[in-house]
Amino acid sequence: MQLYNTQHIKLYNTLTSEKEIFQPITDGYVGMYVCGPTVYSNVHLGNVRTFMSFDMIFRYLKHLGYKVRYVRNITDAGHLENDADVGEDKITKKARLEAIEPMEIVQRYTVDFHNVLNTFNFLPPSIEPTATGHIIEQIELIQSIIDNGFAYTVNGSVYFDVHKYNESNEYGILSKRKLEDLIHNTRALDGQSDKKNPQDFALWKKAEPTHIMRWPSPWSDGFPGWHLECTAMSTKYLGDYFDIHGGGMDLKFPHHECEIAQNQASKGQAPVKYWMHANMLELNGARMSKSTGNYINPAELLSGDNDIMSKAYNPSVIRFFMMQASYRSVLDLTDDGLSAAEKGFHRLMDAIGIIDNLKTSSSSSFTVTDWKQKCYDAMNDDFNTPILIATLFEAVKFINQVKDGSATVTPEDLTVLKETIETFIFDVLGLVNISKESSGGNKLTGAVEILIKLRKEARLNKDFALSDKIRDELAEAGIQLNDSREGTTFTTN
Ligand code: AMP
Ligand code: ZN
Repeated sequence: MQLYNTQHIKLYNTLTSEKEIFQPITDGYVGMYVCGPTVYSNVHLGNVRTFMSFDMIFRYLKHLGYKVRYVRNITDAGHLENDADVGEDKITKKARLEAIEPMEIVQRYTVDFHNVLNTFNFLPPSIEPTATGHIIEQIELIQSIIDNGFAYTVNGSVYFDVHKYNESNEYGILSKRKLEDLIHNTRALDGQSDKKNPQDFALWKKAEPTHIMRWPSPWSDGFPGWHLECTAMSTKYLGDYFDIHGGGMDLKFPHHECEIAQNQASKGQAPVKYWMHANMLELNGARMSKSTGNYINPAELLSGDNDIMSKAYNPSVIRFFMMQASYRSVLDLTDDGLSAAEKGFHRLMDAIGIIDNLKTSSSSSFTVTDWKQKCYDAMNDDFNTPILIATLFEAVKFINQVKDGSATVTPEDLTVLKETIETFIFDVLGLVNISKESSGGNKLTGAVEILIKLRKEARLNKDFALSDKIRDELAEAGIQLNDSREGTTFTTN
């Protein structure tokens, strides 16, 4: 029996604004689509946070035994600088500025994206399709939207007729906007646009003679509108109606709203059962964003080569920091937050490091099965990773108590405890054990602990010359012993 038969997820559906019991369309199978990056520059930490939220969700669904097809696209064409269908294609612009091929830009930043995600221990999606690889599917979609009367052609470009669509459908259903309000809040067209109404959006744009990325179509040599690729690729690989569609909060409108309209207009049905939106990462209290210059790239944070943080941080510490917030909360990236996360992360790893050496007893002073279910309850409640982490720390406290003799555990409970803590930390949260990884870390700890023990014995025997010698020689080797009422710990420099 799969775990999903007993562990029932409730997830927040943006479409209904409610937490709903997750019931996949096909029992045991989950189709999940997440909007991927536009590969015209290095990803920043904000982008990483959104993809990490869905990596965690992917991991948990898999852990519960679902067969998940996770599709995350690469936008390599069609994303204009401005959401209102004007301006240059982001990739083409970068290529022009650097005097190289657009596909060189795409290649460079796709490689960067993959390297960054590998550094943060992401699982690869099941399919990673590109917009340029699905031009035919996009042309077919446009044709069916035209055939159904929801799009019009002007001077070789094709626009989605939002007003016509809204007569029989609800444009704004996801973002809770009303067309009347949108009309009220948008400026009238300035005569430069081919659109009937400012709310209409491009399905196909005729390319200017200088535009390099272009494809033939029944309407003109041109390129698809940005919203279209996600409709084409999600439905191609997941079907016309699939389980989960995700992305950052900022994509809710217009991007995801337009995806719903395109699907409804071409296939006569809504595309998605559960819409999920990850919240934004902030820096200095403002949203991290390339366009405002308020951002930090992963490489700068990992190397410490930046003016914002006091030092370099390990990818697992950064991942742990992000997992300490719910994916639906805004999170501010700060030096204090990262260093607190670093301490917490090491406490967690230290506890894992001593589990195997704990002495077992004939009874337990901790109900491990209840605690295990609490871990699941946290994740089942809309993937609540901060509550999960708080629950994991209950086990850390218990492990330390068993170590110092103030609590007891049976061998069976210890096995469950170890399995559960490792499953959630490594498989679900996707953290990597740094001390295990940087080989020698554990061995060093072990060796220093032996010396600490010998020094304690020397002091008990009043052999202060030996105890001082141990302390001083360790200090010379860069290892400081710190004595306190709780015992002796050490730090390295
Ligand atoms: P883009 O490459 O601009 O299309 O963005 C890729 C993904 O990153 C989208 O899902 C965005 O919603 C998301 N994103 C952009 N900025 C942030 C941010 N500051 N925090 C979290 N996610 C973000
Ligand atoms: Zn998308």
